[in-house]
Amino acid sequence: MAKYLKKSDLAGFIGSLAGQYQVLGPVEKDGRVVFAPAGAADLKLDFQNSHTSPKDLFFPQSERMFQFTLDPNKEGAFVLQDVDLAPAPRLVFGMRPCDAAAFFVLDRVFKNDQFTDPYWQVKRDATVIIGLGCNQPCPTCFCPSVGYGPFHEDGLDAIATDLGDGFLIKPLTEKGQKALAGAKGLTDPEGKMDEKAAAIAAAAQESIKSEVPTRNIYTRTVMELFNAPHWDRVFESCLNCGTCTYVCPTCHCFDIQDEVTSAKDGDRVRNWDTCMSWLFTIHGTGHNPRPGKKERVRQRFMHKFKYIPMKRGGLIGCVGCGRCVNLCPVNIDVRDVVRDMNA
Ligand code: SF4
Ligand code: SF4
Repeated sequence: MAKYLKKSDLAGFIGSLAGQYQVLGPVEKDGRVVFAPAGAADLKLDFQNSHTSPKDLFFPQSERMFQFTLDPNKEGAFVLQDVDLAPAPRLVFGMRPCDAAAFFVLDRVFKNDQFTDPYWQVKRDATVIIGLGCNQPCPTCFCPSVGYGPFHEDGLDAIATDLGDGFLIKPLTEKGQKALAGAKGLTDPEGKMDEKAAAIAAAAQESIKSEVPTRNIYTRTVMELFNAPHWDRVFESCLNCGTCTYVCPTCHCFDIQDEVTSAKDGDRVRNWDTCMSWLFTIHGTGHNPRPGKKERVRQRFMHKFKYIPMKRGGLIGCVGCGRCVNLCPVNIDVRDVVRDMNA
């Protein structure tokens, strides 16, 4: 059952959660909203969309996978040492539904019937996410076109709706239920709070005017889309800077490198990479299957809108957050590219 939290009780609520979890949320840093450890006073809950996505909470930009040391007892051999993967229990308050939906997408990449990525999974298991519905989506948002929405619930453990004086918080999972059961400041909703929350969600959905049709993409073959003529112009202005991939909540390309820290030891590290980079796909032979900008730009869009849906039962690999639209330095707009693909 949903609970009500007055904004004047937010400090007590967050304080009580902080006894059991490390609390994180949207905070302002250098004029930008990012997700970081937060007390109630730090939380910036009137943001529209954080500058970068919170994917780094589960998939850090750079992550040590294990350490290696030269074996003192055996020449040329190494001793490998695991790192402690699991964070202390964490609770994220105020995540936008599009970013949580991205975790729903990435959960199927990092944990599926073939393998489980422990680096991802331990952090997912240790984290409770209380989302904050998006009362005022940005003009660049298009989440409903890709199957999500400003109050979408996939990937969240609970969802809060800002009613003005307080939040109506609905648990969605056992984890969410458990976290809310131990929190202070929650009361039973009064009057027509449910109806008010539903009206806010409907108005938010209605306010999103960007329509991006995707239906034809599924009926076209991979090769029809791959060879479509529009790729010959989409790539021209792209700088291959990678900004779109680094800010995207669903992009998850990575590279693994050994970083030597002394003559005897070092770390194996996983770092974000980008399909926009020529280096990302070059083979040891020197052959590069995506040698030019056209192939790399095409890959980014084909991956999200054709390959992921083909493999994951229609689930689109873009949640419509609009970050890449806002931040691409040469104004390449994913909505236009997808309209071209669909046409
Ligand atoms: S942000 Fe724009 S210019 Fe940079 S790689 Fe992405 S599409 Fe190309
Ligand atoms: S492709 Fe662009 S709009 Fe889609 S999820 Fe990534 S950053 Fe957001």
